[in-house]
Amino acid sequence: MERQDQSDSPQQLEGWFLEMLGCPGCEQRHPLHLNATQDSLLCACGRYGFPIGPGGVPNLLIENAVLLDENARPEDVVVERKATGGSAS
Ligand SMILES: [Zn+2]
Repeated sequence: MERQDQSDSPQQLEGWFLEMLGCPGCEQRHPLHLNATQDSLLCACGRYGFPIGPGGVPNLLIENAVLLDENARPEDVVVERKATGGSAS
């Protein structure tokens, strides 16, 4: 029996997963989002980017983060966290 894998793309990173992770670089733990080329996760604080390694595994170690804008102020960033609906009680 051969198992056919139809998808040739690496694991997709889900939005809720990224929000749950939060940025390890800022105290506010702003949610992360994929950049346009989908090879990095960018923090909503605008300060850090985290490279995504082979297999789609994001590298969330702060020592591996790319400092995008050292003048970004995470404390001034207001992040609208989308209510994900569903069965939150
Ligand atoms: Zn951050």
